[in-house]
Amino acid sequence: MSDDTGPPAIPVVCPECGTRTSVPFPDVEATVERHNEERHGGETVAAVDPDVFDRLADYVAADLGLLDERDEG
Ligand SMILES: [Zn+2]
Repeated sequence: MSDDTGPPAIPVVCPECGTRTSVPFPDVEATVERHNEERHGGETVAAVDPDVFDRLADYVAADLGLLDERDEG
């Protein structure tokens, strides 16, 4: 009963608050920004879990088609 059609949930961690939240990929940037603004005066404290950051990068790259590198002119 797993629904895999939606965007992946990205873990967002805040070391200062000691919180870890899963946020749908499209909301990650807004969520992190809002948290840092409301809780940390705009400082970049909360961020995407570094462990999944690589996979996230892959996902974004694949989404943009950047993995299909072409070197033809
Ligand atoms: Zn925080």
